[in-house]
Amino acid sequence: MESELKERLEEFLHGKEISKELRKITATGRKSLVVEFENLLEFDKELAKGLLDAPSGFFDAADAVLEGITKIPGMRLRVKGLPEIIEIRHIRAEHVSEFIQVEGIMTRSGEVKPEAKEAVFKCRRCGEENRVLQVGEFFREPLSCENPNCRKKGPFDLVVESTVFRDWQSICIQEPPEKLRGGRMPRRLDGIIRDDFVDKAVPGNHVTITGVLRVFQERQRRERRTTFRKILFVSHIDVRQKGIEESELTEEDEKKIKELAKDPWLRNKIIQSITPAIHGYEVVKEAIALQVFGCNPLELPDGTRIRGDTHILLCGDPGTAKSQILKWMANVAPRGLYTSGMKATGAGLTAAAVRDEISGGWTLEAGVLVIADGGLASIDEFEKMGQDDAAAILESMEQQTISVAKAGIIATLNTRTGILAATNPKFGRFDKNIPPAQQLALDPVMLSRFDLVLLMRDEPRADYDRSMAQHILQMHTAPKKVVKAPFDPDFLRKIIIYARKNIEPKMEDREAQKMIENFFVDWRKVAAEGAPLPITVRQLEALIRLAKSNARMRLSDRVTVEDANRAINLIKTCLKEAGMDTEANVVDIDLLMTGIPKSQRERRQRVLEIIKELEGQYGGAAPIEKVKIQAGAEGIRESFVEWMIDEEKKRGYLYSPTPETVSRAVR
Ligand code: ADP
Ligand code: MG
Repeated sequence: MESELKERLEEFLHGKEISKELRKITATGRKSLVVEFENLLEFDKELAKGLLDAPSGFFDAADAVLEGITKIPGMRLRVKGLPEIIEIRHIRAEHVSEFIQVEGIMTRSGEVKPEAKEAVFKCRRCGEENRVLQVGEFFREPLSCENPNCRKKGPFDLVVESTVFRDWQSICIQEPPEKLRGGRMPRRLDGIIRDDFVDKAVPGNHVTITGVLRVFQERQRRERRTTFRKILFVSHIDVRQKGIEESELTEEDEKKIKELAKDPWLRNKIIQSITPAIHGYEVVKEAIALQVFGCNPLELPDGTRIRGDTHILLCGDPGTAKSQILKWMANVAPRGLYTSGMKATGAGLTAAAVRDEISGGWTLEAGVLVIADGGLASIDEFEKMGQDDAAAILESMEQQTISVAKAGIIATLNTRTGILAATNPKFGRFDKNIPPAQQLALDPVMLSRFDLVLLMRDEPRADYDRSMAQHILQMHTAPKKVVKAPFDPDFLRKIIIYARKNIEPKMEDREAQKMIENFFVDWRKVAAEGAPLPITVRQLEALIRLAKSNARMRLSDRVTVEDANRAINLIKTCLKEAGMDTEANVVDIDLLMTGIPKSQRERRQRVLEIIKELEGQYGGAAPIEKVKIQAGAEGIRESFVEWMIDEEKKRGYLYSPTPETVSRAVR
């Protein structure tokens, strides 16, 4: 660096404001002086230019000056707030060795390691201690002994006790989901953080980073290649509390949206604007509209946090537009992400400890739910995810955090995201003869985490089929005419961003409260009269969330009777479709959660007893015909017996020694 700039730098760092700041910093034991780029620019344009063009020299000089002023070794200058943000995918050769600013989401952070900054070597011949500054990529030994009487080329021993170390951490940042609309693959950038800025951010944080883009030659075995890999040497890292998506809103947008709050049809218009290319499914659209609007979580005085996100499961026949809906939502929802349970590899859905290329150690890598923190995670083929993911997702759905304790890394990451999941029924398609709840492919514990379970059945219905055919045909002939919605996706997204940021619905209306209370009590009463338990506290919480989301969707912060009513109707519809025990004619939440309705459970028990009796009479294997006859005499239908025997064979409770007989596997 030219000496003129060096002088200006001295002058800058000796300034009054900076001196004051430095005294504060040294008092607290920190080792970083953070300066806004703007201040540097104001002080001297040339100096600012010097930083941008030749940052390495600039920082070396600045750090030396700071160490001189404060007498604290390792004191560093960090610069933040560059006027321009370069997108990770737009980093090019011209940026090499420059000072740049990028933004993204931190997806990995490695373990903090000590890095040798100044290594001390003892000469084996004369005992002289040689100090070598470690600046490059590889560890450097002295070329020859400094002792004028020795001057030998070694050998040297490293004196670890005298070597100066500093903290070192490798990270990886990825383009934020906002920049990836349209299903692009995210690009990544590796970075290295040093000294007291390590562990400033955790995976999942949205960050703005300044740093020097340095490059390192790639190697293939021992040969050096002509290509280089990029690593950002981080100067400053800023964790943003609010998402960048909020910057999408202009003042004009806000004005327009505020105006919308007066529209009495706003709620309906929003629902109509959800996946306009998909025909029908009004209930599904209403549910996912409520989900993206969400509601604020409840923070209790004792520190308990009750989630505000609604989780929805779509379970449907193949070809019912589930994937289409999920992708569309991931695109429109702020911080929305789409993934499939089947192909979520690497960090998977939650988080994982993985080997790091740069350091060779373990790093924590954020998965889909962590990256979608504060947004919506669409997970297709939900039933196909791996065991590890399933276990982690259970924690995440209720607590909205993931704890990782693997390979020496212990961390808790936030996953405050709504989950929109899709599955096929257990046997691929819904079977009309079996209650739908018995065909959900998830285990009951997982199922109970969902606020709403929506069934999408593909049954031939003449009038519906005709209108659907016309809809699809029109889509191909005159797309503009069919795919018509009150709000286009971009504007809908803006409404959602606005509502999530500004509207906090409160449940203060006595009548609305009463309504939810009564609904809960009445439905529970059905249970008291001997019917299976129809509704649990989870549904009550879901109900409150949905009522609040209804208010937020109207851009109002008061939950009204109408909001409560809408929420109740939605829950009723879902429970009826999925959980109705048609024979007992009550909604059976037990059925939804365990897959066996209560009245059926009794019949199943009876059939098992009959089998046991007949086993005794027929030497260990009950003839199926006889079981049916006996069951029929007790009012249990033949189709039930057949279905039950099939089901129990699948579960392993029963087996067939011969095609005509059946036995209990466990006696
Ligand atoms: P799934 O994931 O449920 O198996 P897909 O989302 O892949 O189904 O949908 C299959 C195709 O059928 C898509 O092209 C989708 O647009 C179309 N489709 C299915 N149902 C509808 C509908 N109700 N309206 C419009 N298109 C539909
Ligand atoms: Mg699909």
